[in-house]
Amino acid sequence: MKAIICGAGIAGLTLAWHLERSGWEVELIERAPAFRGSGYMIDFYGPGLQVAERMGLRERLRALRYPVDELSYVDRDGRQTSHLTMPPGMQEVISVLRGDLARTLQDDVRSPVRYATSIDSVEQDSGGVTVQLTDGTRRRADLLVGADGAHSRVRELAFGDGSRHLRYLGHQVAAYILEDRRLSERIGMRYQMLTVPGLMAGAYALRDDRLALLFLRREPEPRIPGDPAATLRRHYGELGWILPEVLTRCPDPPELYYDQVTQVEMERWSQGRVVLLGDACQAVSLFAGHGASMAMAAAWILADELAGCEDPVAAALRYQRRIQPTIGEVQRFGRRFIRWMAPAGRRHIIARDWMLRLAALPGVSRLFVNSLSPGGHNLIRSSSEVASPHPA
Ligand SMILES: Cc1cc2nc3c(=O)[nH]c(=O)nc-3n(C[C@H](O)[C@H](O)[C@H](O)COP(=O)(O)OP(=O)(O)OC[C@H]3O[C@@H](n4cnc5c(N)ncnc54)[C@H](O)[C@@H]3O)c2cc1C
Repeated sequence: MKAIICGAGIAGLTLAWHLERSGWEVELIERAPAFRGSGYMIDFYGPGLQVAERMGLRERLRALRYPVDELSYVDRDGRQTSHLTMPPGMQEVISVLRGDLARTLQDDVRSPVRYATSIDSVEQDSGGVTVQLTDGTRRRADLLVGADGAHSRVRELAFGDGSRHLRYLGHQVAAYILEDRRLSERIGMRYQMLTVPGLMAGAYALRDDRLALLFLRREPEPRIPGDPAATLRRHYGELGWILPEVLTRCPDPPELYYDQVTQVEMERWSQGRVVLLGDACQAVSLFAGHGASMAMAAAWILADELAGCEDPVAAALRYQRRIQPTIGEVQRFGRRFIRWMAPAGRRHIIARDWMLRLAALPGVSRLFVNSLSPGGHNLIRSSSEVASPHPA
């Protein structure tokens, strides 16, 4: 059996890893010109971490993690206004750069990745799927997987108008990494954030004198601005703290990641031999803080259904049934979290600061940790383990 996976990101690489180990031939198609190791910091826990464990990657990820054990809010002069030291249960969370997670997955994938390529058209019949690539070549496979992110090209080809499946959450997000020893030492290994109504900027020091920056802005208009770096400077440049300095050195895309904050909601995740995976069909958004983890869980479940199966169409339907309810739960959690992560008014900022002070109290901190695990506790059980009450 052969699968073409469009998108060599977190979901696509995880699926390739598992499929090739169950005897599938796999080819990955990736739009980027080469592997990109940059990105933003993600908190990795729950079902994705269980998948990483089954893949034998947990210790490698632990070695790459950043010890984000303190979160502080600062004012325009950089003075701390509230802070939270991560309670013990949070030790399980691995904070890692998205690029480092992707690299760890990619290192163990043997299938070829065709870079600087995408998909032009798709045709399917009862025996397989034929894909026309943007480099002019054609491929035939048993299954095409669209693991190409929230703005999926495969989704557009198989389901039509992509925006119909997007739920815009009223914010735009940007992230980039800067090299600067002085600023990196000033920020240190704690997540520092500045919030004013409608705007949030965050910074965290990385190894090798680097600094990871994140910007979140309330914006009713989903359209991405033509010059994202200039837009960031216009909105954040006067806010004080380290912002004027870091924004004068803000890169343009692709080094600058800039996107809408969206969730993807779809009734069906597959159309015959074309199946969607990860953010392409189930994006939960950064508000849920669980997207990479859920993408890996979904890839694992799809691979579990496809292993040894002669009917990929039926396997794709079973995969959706197994994970979609959890995704709905995580998406609802993400929407509830918006007002805490990106407070719209001063009243919410004050309430958030009080919540953090309370969260530092013993007992309350446990509740806080539990609230960060919105779902998916029993997802990572293979179909045979689900069938047997005493899995091996
Ligand atoms: C700022 C931010 C913070 C986040 N924080 C967290 C967090 O704390 N915890 C967490 O678990 N998740 C977090 N996430 C979400 C997480 O990054 C995503 O949910 C996850 O990367 C989804 O994996 P994916 O493989 O579906 O998509 P991606 O990792 O986006 O991969 C998609 C791949 O497809 C490629 N591609 C796109 N279009 C095409 C095309 N037309 N043809 C070919 N290839 C294409 C892309 O180049 C990319 O390589 C965060 C996201 C953001 C933006």
